[in-house]
Amino acid sequence: MMLDVSLALRSPGEAFPFRHEEVLPPQEVLGEEIRFDEPVVLEGSYTMADEALLLRGSLKGTAQASCARCLKPVSKAIQVPFEESFLHTSQALPEDDSEAWEEQFSFTGSKVELNPLALTLSVLALPIRFLCGKGCEGVPEGASQAQDDSQKDLPEAHPFSALQQLLTKDQEV
Ligand SMILES: [Zn+2]
Repeated sequence: MMLDVSLALRSPGEAFPFRHEEVLPPQEVLGEEIRFDEPVVLEGSYTMADEALLLRGSLKGTAQASCARCLKPVSKAIQVPFEESFLHTSQALPEDDSEAWEEQFSFTGSKVELNPLALTLSVLALPIRFLCGKGCEGVPEGASQAQDDSQKDLPEAHPFSALQQLLTKDQEV
């Protein structure tokens, strides 16, 4: 969603408070699906300084995922401070040059798209893995055993075994 910063454009140097919500799509992180069922909230202030808008504050939200051990649903509150500048450009940057600006957020007109920032902050704030509790014992022994057994049943295919047979035949001749 767009944050209207026209007040800051009219009064450079002055800080304006804001509260902004962003709906984030589910993310796939290391094969796990992480969802943000509620919009994340960015709260802080914005100031226009020189050619950039400075955005300061903190992001709060809740991430939902499955416990890495027992797959129970887990919610994790995230809170992360941010300080980011958005370069004010007179016109949209041409597609070809977009790579050069990857490191820098930018905006045109009087509105700033905050979704990429909110998504980046939220994903970086995620724990390395979700656990339902410190003492999670994980899946019952039987369940993990079954998985191991099925892997043992796989035939022992060696990529070079066919080649090996050919070589042995040649030696015999
Ligand atoms: Zn668990």
